[in-house]
Amino acid sequence: MNPASSRPAPTLPDPAGVPKLTFSDLGLLPELLRAITEQGYLEPTPIQAKAIPPILQRRDVMGAAQTGTGKTAGFALPLLQLLAPQANTSPSPARHPLRVLVLTPTRELAAQVEESFRAYGKHLQLRSAVVYGGVDIDPQMKQLYAGVEILVATPGRLLDHLHQKSVNLSRVEFLVLDEADRMLDMGFIPDIKRILAVLPKQRQNMLFSATFPDEVRRLAKELLHAPVTVEVAPRNAPADLVAHLVYPAALLRKRALLVQLIRSRNMRQVLVFVRMKRDANRLARQLKQDGVVAREIHSDRTQAERMLALEEFKQGKVPVLVATDIAARGLDIEELPFVINYELPHTPEDYVHRIGRTGRAGLPGEAISLVSPDEMKFLEDIEKLLKRKLPRATAPEPAADRGPSRHAREPRQERHHPPRPSAPPKPAHAPAVRPAPAGFDFSKPYEPPSSSPAPQPPVARPVHGKPHRPTAALLGGNPKREPHK
Ligand code: AMP
Repeated sequence: MNPASSRPAPTLPDPAGVPKLTFSDLGLLPELLRAITEQGYLEPTPIQAKAIPPILQRRDVMGAAQTGTGKTAGFALPLLQLLAPQANTSPSPARHPLRVLVLTPTRELAAQVEESFRAYGKHLQLRSAVVYGGVDIDPQMKQLYAGVEILVATPGRLLDHLHQKSVNLSRVEFLVLDEADRMLDMGFIPDIKRILAVLPKQRQNMLFSATFPDEVRRLAKELLHAPVTVEVAPRNAPADLVAHLVYPAALLRKRALLVQLIRSRNMRQVLVFVRMKRDANRLARQLKQDGVVAREIHSDRTQAERMLALEEFKQGKVPVLVATDIAARGLDIEELPFVINYELPHTPEDYVHRIGRTGRAGLPGEAISLVSPDEMKFLEDIEKLLKRKLPRATAPEPAADRGPSRHAREPRQERHHPPRPSAPPKPAHAPAVRPAPAGFDFSKPYEPPSSSPAPQPPVARPVHGKPHRPTAALLGGNPKREPHK
């Protein structure tokens, strides 16, 4: 792979006037530097620059960062380095004791994290495995019996392995809790406590979370000893790259409005959120009846089905993916231009997570919410959290007898980078907040959202090859911000 062509040099913001670090400044091993270069990463993201040194110094870390900021490499690289002295090629399981345990809330995130360990550790003789539920346990057991130094697991399946005695946690030296807030939402805290009870007391702990509700703070307090807090502004700093639009709509009118928006805005890639699994099934089915190609993704679908739906969506073969909050958590989808909240989430933090799927990679995105009268209360909660009122729009006139758009109807063979859709419909009144800028200027320092921003010049898009997957997209850190409450 030619990194220069896969990830062209981004012009990074220099968040707090801090001189930019390189990966070699962080004291990483040559084997890791090589793997990083092969990944095409040019410089550390803010969370990496902040988290790698304390982890290497064997400090506990509390990271306020969400998926998309580069946090996985922020813990995986230093952990691989700490394991490296014992790396070996022996076939004996005894020479590969489990030393790093990473717990994640979802299977998708677990798979992504383990893949990262493998990619960054490819020049080191270390073994990793991933275990999650919903798939046959036997192959996982075989892999664990053979010995792995790094295990990425969802809590429920790890407990299954503990009961089956296929995993031995007595040598674990490093524990990472990834997306702790989501673990809490998914009711995993009791499982985590059970797992903690069987881990050696002496160990280094890292906890990452996008938000810090009280229970996550309590868990962090129990778990972490004199932690170093590292924090970056979420990549989806809401007002920066994402335009919000609210369509007040009666419940019964939502489906027609959704189809109408997909067609009139020529949406080629849109993630549609509902709250319940059965609603995801129903809506995807109804969209298909309406002539819109759609798939659903939620935790009742098999892992293979979820992966396939996601892959088809990522490749642009399927324009509409209907998801529940949990299923969409941790998904890394490049350049997703639209998120539609078909139903609002009941916790405002979930809105932030949802819209974090768009406005990524430094490109603008749009978060559209269809809000029925009974959901107004949830909208108010979201606006309270974002500290601003979201612009309202009136529904476009139904187009008379228009067939499904070509894009929504035909799976695309090849992934093109579609032009951004034309101008959004006019809000019913002038938005009280900053609309999505036409682009994001990487050459300027990251600035937290302000109410009267200067217009931004459009983003220069690469003509060939993969678009930027730059660290710049991950925004600058904001060291002074307190973790979200
Ligand atoms: P994460 O937040 O760990 O899920 O990472 C989000 C995305 O950023 C992944 O696709 C990574 O491959 C990518 N990434 C991580 N670190 C860097 C870096 N230093 N430069 C460019 N891309 C990166």
